[in-house]
Amino acid sequence: LNRRLAEFGTTIFAEMSALAMSTGAINLGQGFPDTDGPEEIREAAVRALRDGRGNQYPPGPGVPELRTAIAAHQQRRYGLTYDPDTEVLVTAGATEAIAATLLALLEPGDEVIAFEPYYDSYAACIAMAGGTRVPVTLRPHPEDGRFRLDLDELRDAVTDRTRLLLVNTPHNPTGTVLTREELTAIAELAVERDLLVVTDEVYEHLVFDDAEHLPLATFPGMRERTVSISSAGKTFSFTGWKVGWVTGAPGLVTAVRSAKQFLTYVASGPFQYAVAEALALPDTYFEAFRADMLAKRDLLAAGLTAAGFEVFRPAGTYFITTDIRPLGERDGFAFCRALPERAGVVAIPNAVFYDHREAGAPFVRFAFCKRTDVLEEAAKRLGTLR
Ligand code: PMP
Ligand code: GLN
Repeated sequence: LNRRLAEFGTTIFAEMSALAMSTGAINLGQGFPDTDGPEEIREAAVRALRDGRGNQYPPGPGVPELRTAIAAHQQRRYGLTYDPDTEVLVTAGATEAIAATLLALLEPGDEVIAFEPYYDSYAACIAMAGGTRVPVTLRPHPEDGRFRLDLDELRDAVTDRTRLLLVNTPHNPTGTVLTREELTAIAELAVERDLLVVTDEVYEHLVFDDAEHLPLATFPGMRERTVSISSAGKTFSFTGWKVGWVTGAPGLVTAVRSAKQFLTYVASGPFQYAVAEALALPDTYFEAFRADMLAKRDLLAAGLTAAGFEVFRPAGTYFITTDIRPLGERDGFAFCRALPERAGVVAIPNAVFYDHREAGAPFVRFAFCKRTDVLEEAAKRLGTLR
């Protein structure tokens, strides 16, 4: 393994899912649902396969049906207008979108600001692109437990070498949804310092209570400097299909496409047609999905609280970050490695998402995108911890 990648080892998701398999523990680690997405969308994929749509290489930018559906979704949800031919690109999941974007836009030595804790592929992709990551740490507010961005710290992190801001909202793993005020400040900073912005919005449809997902591309001066990334995996509960996408101004999307063509060229042929149909589902689908996940959040949050964890109630995503110190624990890594034996549950130590590992040491993430009976059983098991 070369020096750029040596520090990253095996992704925590593979490690923890393997642990769940070998111990038979309930897997609340890796974020994937245990119930597949809508039957009619699975049928759409079968139809595409059977009709021979997408069984051979689809067009490089994605099939026109899907690019049109992505543009229509951005228009309908957010009032953002994108040309399906020049401003939309289909990728192999958000993961490839992130990789291709960073490989396309970074020069060696460019600095990328990302909010720590950050999704693990960010650091590896920045490294593969020869960039330097500059983490700005989100910290839980003493009053409401919301992991917050310190806007002064963000401003101070920008240097002459900063090329782009990598923003994830709703935020994995903390569940923070950035507010209009925070996004306004980020947008003003990007314009003032002439930065590119890459936004990872894979949890765009998972926001709860009063939270609202606001794409940065809708803020003044942002459309032309923002690459927006999302994916079908989370929204439609088909994480194995690996259909993602990028939207942005033509110059940016063309650049991302230049990198993407040499990573996979294309992927997910028949699934692209099915996702085009999924994006056109009526609002009732998205509302029911959100309501289901909200009930699951509350169920798992109550179980974790009863078990003695400090719970940071997420405003978005399908993850709950907890603090294990009330249980007399300090080290999330050790805790997660022991948890399958101790309680028959798998979770993720947030420390892996930090450069400042000690800042993340006591935090542990649990996924709640699981059946109600599974969450109830997990809560019961975790209740034996103290
Ligand atoms: N970004 C974030 C924040 C994620 O949690 C994930 C995991 N779904 C991804 C990107 C990757 O998405 P995909 O599975 O579509 O590659
Ligand atoms: N996004 C998922 C999570 O955060 C995992 C994706 C992966 O396995 N790489 O759990």
